[in-house]
Amino acid sequence: MSRPPSPSPRLVRTVIPRHGEDIRSVAIRYAKLKRLTLDDLLIAGLRVKEGHLTSLPLKAALAETFAELAGLDAASLRKASFGQGMDGFEVFGSSADIDMLVPHWRRVAPGSLRSDGNEPWIRAHWQIACLPCDPDTGETLTHLCPACGAELTWIRVEDLYRCSRHRCRADLRQAEPRYASTRDREMSALMLGLLRREPSALERMPPVIARATQAEQVQFFSWLGALRPLVNGVIVPVGPFATFRGLGAALTYPASLDCMVRDLMAAHEERDPRFGRLVGAMEMRFRTRDLMGGRIKISVKERLDKLLFRDEVKGLALPPGKAMERRGQKRLVRFDHRAFLLSSQPTNAGWGRALSGLAERPILLAS
Ligand SMILES: [Zn+2]
Repeated sequence: MSRPPSPSPRLVRTVIPRHGEDIRSVAIRYAKLKRLTLDDLLIAGLRVKEGHLTSLPLKAALAETFAELAGLDAASLRKASFGQGMDGFEVFGSSADIDMLVPHWRRVAPGSLRSDGNEPWIRAHWQIACLPCDPDTGETLTHLCPACGAELTWIRVEDLYRCSRHRCRADLRQAEPRYASTRDREMSALMLGLLRREPSALERMPPVIARATQAEQVQFFSWLGALRPLVNGVIVPVGPFATFRGLGAALTYPASLDCMVRDLMAAHEERDPRFGRLVGAMEMRFRTRDLMGGRIKISVKERLDKLLFRDEVKGLALPPGKAMERRGQKRLVRFDHRAFLLSSQPTNAGWGRALSGLAERPILLAS
């Protein structure tokens, strides 16, 4: 008995991925086209448990199995989406900081989904959490259902344009689109350009930042973005929001850092005229330790050396001791910032006692 001839590739129906489409969006559209439920595609087609769609971009073998099943090119599908990096995520081929993505979020722009007509699709770059809006349209992105307020996820999604909560199933395209300010749209375009390593975006940054790796840049933006509100006594966790705000400040680095340090020092001095400036300097040194090693960290440290040296020397100069008094000199104490902040073996017992109250807890400008 002869085997039936294999169908011509032109007769095999499959989806045509859109340029820059998230691989999970392609998979859902494919399931729809083949009249499969998502669980059928995952369990029978890809041989993974239900709910594994979220991690499709993170598992190269799974993505390849899907590409083969759907007759698509695995490399180009994966190129558009984020993936698994050496130590965390990879975005557009460069390793990315952990707070840049929340993989289980399905971020959408309702107005764009509506304008897609019969085949709404999800852009891979919408999933980058530090982009508040789509740079192409300026429409703000959301990961919350406008009807029920629940998180939009990739679990049990049957239609890309619906809330996947069983009781809700709201059509997201009905939501009124909201638009970001011109400045935020411009900054989103710049952020996306930087993530894609586009020369036109890199050229807009100060040289020391432009030459750093993508992971260094993003982490620096996050660090800088969390530093600014601290001046007003507000603690903002590092994360996507801070990352986006920090990009604006990074554009004018190092002037922006100088300004923040000056304000922070002034705020500390206002709170404690005697030790405030020294404490402010210690705090800046301590925070700098969080920066990823590289060009930017070296540059920030050099900048702080210039900005804080006088305060540190002045603050650490002790009243002359008996032996020194005759020569009319001041003693300078070697000081270990970390030991000081962690309250472990301050190098000078007197100072340890004087500042012990401060050293027992991280020094923050609490309100
Ligand atoms: Zn809902």
